[in-house]
Amino acid sequence: MIEAIAAVTREANAPFTIEPVSVADPGPGQVRVRVEAVGICHTDLVCATGALGAVFPIVLGHEGAGTVESVGLGVGKVAPGDKVIMTFASCGKCGPCHDHDPAYCASFTTLNFPGVGADGRTSLSQYGKAISGRYFGQSSFASYAIAEERNIVKVPAHLDLALLAPLGCSVQTGAGAVMRSLEAKAGSTLIVVGGGAVGLSAVLGGVLSGCGTIILVEPQQDRRAVALEIGATHAIDPAAGPLAEAVRGIAPGGANYIVDTTGNVAVLQEAVGLLAQKGKLGMIGVPGALDAAVQMPIVPALTVGYSIQGICEGDSDPDTYLPELIEYLEAGRLPVEKFITVYPFDQINEAIKDAHGSKCVKVVLTF
Ligand SMILES: [Zn+2]
Ligand SMILES: [Zn+2]
Repeated sequence: MIEAIAAVTREANAPFTIEPVSVADPGPGQVRVRVEAVGICHTDLVCATGALGAVFPIVLGHEGAGTVESVGLGVGKVAPGDKVIMTFASCGKCGPCHDHDPAYCASFTTLNFPGVGADGRTSLSQYGKAISGRYFGQSSFASYAIAEERNIVKVPAHLDLALLAPLGCSVQTGAGAVMRSLEAKAGSTLIVVGGGAVGLSAVLGGVLSGCGTIILVEPQQDRRAVALEIGATHAIDPAAGPLAEAVRGIAPGGANYIVDTTGNVAVLQEAVGLLAQKGKLGMIGVPGALDAAVQMPIVPALTVGYSIQGICEGDSDPDTYLPELIEYLEAGRLPVEKFITVYPFDQINEAIKDAHGSKCVKVVLTF
């Protein structure tokens, strides 16, 4: 066991408190990582409300990056001293995991959200009392984290971990939604709704896929500006007038692909009407209510032939897709630095306030 500092969430909706914690030694198949950077993702804030079944007290954080400090029995993928990023957990045993589709792991919910194993076990404690430390197989709002060999990916040592950390969730989710889930074709028309880190990553996915028209729909002016800077061809302020009119002015036939990052039912309902023949609507955004639903009119679905697809983690197979994204990053084709702001770890609460107040898009905390 070693000592670490962590941002603990004591109960639903409580602010993060920086506290000392003890981190267990890595068990068989596990890796202990000295965390150097960790992104804050929207899902962390949803889980902090208790909505997705987090067991309090818990250490959240699921975009961790750092250096391997020690490894457990049987670990062959990495060795102490290796630089790694951590991503979502998957079981490795179910059908989707066997098919290299771990984002749809049959145990995704239980492995990622509660922060304790199915057996109630955790890897964190404080003065002998358990703290949930298995969140997304990492709980990386802490200076040390226990991950599974399955949910870490080795990265080149010379790259900036603050830029790599968000690849483990928000960047692979947005870029992967376009490149992998929807398999957007070159020359096609893509609409991305919402210009947070996931939406801007979807814009980058559109650029990498060669989409001919990339439209970001986003109320905040500075986020629209970033989108145009990284390759969107158009940016629409939804408050400026009817969205359908603005879209039809740019793409009269509608969009081949729409990626929604808002989870807002009214927005999704309107998006269905913006699809071109055989268009696809990808849903990434987590709605405010767990029973939120979209109505799908049947006759237009038949004649337009559109489809609606739920997307988790951009259909990423992290072992292959994250190295691919890192190659793009090294080549200057994944300019995530345009929307990342770095804060010291102990300013986690201020950073979240700034992100809500639109001072920054994507926060990465460093130690
Ligand atoms: Zn699985
Ligand atoms: Zn996330």
